[in-house]
Amino acid sequence: MIDQVSYDLGSNRSCIRELFEYGRKRAAVVGEDRVYDYSLGNPSIPAPPEVDQAIRQILDEEPSLAVHGYTSAVGDLAARQAIARDLNDRYDAGVRPEDLFIGCGAAPELVAVFRALAVPGAEILAVAPYFPEYKPFVEGTGAAFRAVPPDVPGFQIRLEAVEEMLTAHTAAIILNSPNNPAGTVYTRRTLEELAALLKRKARQFGHPIYIVADEPYRELAYGVEVPFIPAIYPDTVVCYSYSKSLSLPGERIGYIYVPRQAADHERLYAAIAGAARACGHVCAPSLWQRVIARCAGLRPDLQAYDRNRKALYEGLCALGYQVAKPDGAFYLFVQAPGGDANAFCERAKELDLLVVPGDGFGCPGYFRVCYCVSYQQIVNSLPVFAQLI
Ligand code: PLP
Repeated sequence: MIDQVSYDLGSNRSCIRELFEYGRKRAAVVGEDRVYDYSLGNPSIPAPPEVDQAIRQILDEEPSLAVHGYTSAVGDLAARQAIARDLNDRYDAGVRPEDLFIGCGAAPELVAVFRALAVPGAEILAVAPYFPEYKPFVEGTGAAFRAVPPDVPGFQIRLEAVEEMLTAHTAAIILNSPNNPAGTVYTRRTLEELAALLKRKARQFGHPIYIVADEPYRELAYGVEVPFIPAIYPDTVVCYSYSKSLSLPGERIGYIYVPRQAADHERLYAAIAGAARACGHVCAPSLWQRVIARCAGLRPDLQAYDRNRKALYEGLCALGYQVAKPDGAFYLFVQAPGGDANAFCERAKELDLLVVPGDGFGCPGYFRVCYCVSYQQIVNSLPVFAQLI
C-alpha cells in the first residue's frame, strides 16, 4: 500500500523545478547565454569568505569526533549562544539559548512548527502570494491550509480578509517578509495593525493565534526596515534559515526562535522539539552548527543583487510592465500583460525566457522573476521582455 498524497507530491515535480530542468536541457542545445533562466531561487553570490575560513579552522582546531558527532537534539549550545547574542545585539530582544532550536533550514523548521500547532480541526492561514510548499507542509500535518487573498498591487496584508477568515480553529498565520515571490517587505504599520487584530481575535476565541514568521530573506532588504515581528507580536515563532542570507542552501542550517514572552512558551517549545523528533529531525549538521557558532553575526554583501534588482525593475517598468516595488529578497512579481500569466509564461518559454506563473503562489495573473542571476543575463534578456510585451 502506498500513500496516494505522498505519491502525487513525489511524482509531480513542482512547476519551478520543471522549468529549471527544462532550462538545463535548452542550455545544452542553444548555449548557456541564450537561455534566460529566472526560475529558481538559488543564491548567485558566494558564501562570505569567513564561512570557508571557519570550516578550515574548525577542522584544524576542534576534535574530529566532536565535529562529526551528534549534537544535542535542540542544537549545540555554542551555536545557540551565538545566535542569541546576535539577535540581542540587533533587536535588544532578550533571547536566551533555551529559546532557540537549531534546524535544518526553514523547510523542516516550518513543518515542525505546523505539526506542533496542528490540534484536531486546526486551520493555518498563509497570506498570498506565498511560498507554494506551505500547502503540502501544512496539509501533511492534518491541519487545513487557508490562503488569504493578495493585497494587490502593493502586496501588504488585506486585514479585512484576514479578519473574515479567522475562526475559533485558527492556530496560526504564516508571514513571509521579505516575501517570496513578491519581493515586498511588510511595513511596521501593517504588522502593528495585524497584531492588534490577532490580539483581539485571540481574546475572543480564548486561545493564542500564533504568527509563524518564515524568514529566510530577513537579511535581504534594500534600504527598508524589516521589523522584528516578535517585538511587535510576542506570540510569534520565527523560522530562520542561512540558505539565502549566507548563500548556504545545500548545507541545511537555520533555527527556530520561540520568544519567552510567547503564550505557553514552555509547552510550545517542547511541542516543536517533539514534532521535530517525530519527523526524524535528530540534529542539524554538526559541522554547520559549529560554523554558525563562529559566523552568526555575518551579513551578506548585497551589491550584486541590488544592481540586478535596479536594472531589472527599471528595465521592466520602462517597457511598460507593472511590477510590485521590490524592497527585499531576490524576486520581482510582475503583472502578466493580457492578464493570463500561464499563457505569458508559455510564450516566454518559446523565447527561452523562463519565468514562473503566479498561480502556485496563490496569485494568478502575475509571474515571478528570480534575479539571483548574472547581471549579463538581465542585460541580454531585456530585449526579449520587450518583444513579449
Ligand atoms: N520559505 C521560503 C519563503 C522560501 O523561499 C524557501 C526557499 O526558497 C524556504 C522557506 C525554504 O528554505 P530552506 O532552504 O531554508 O529550507
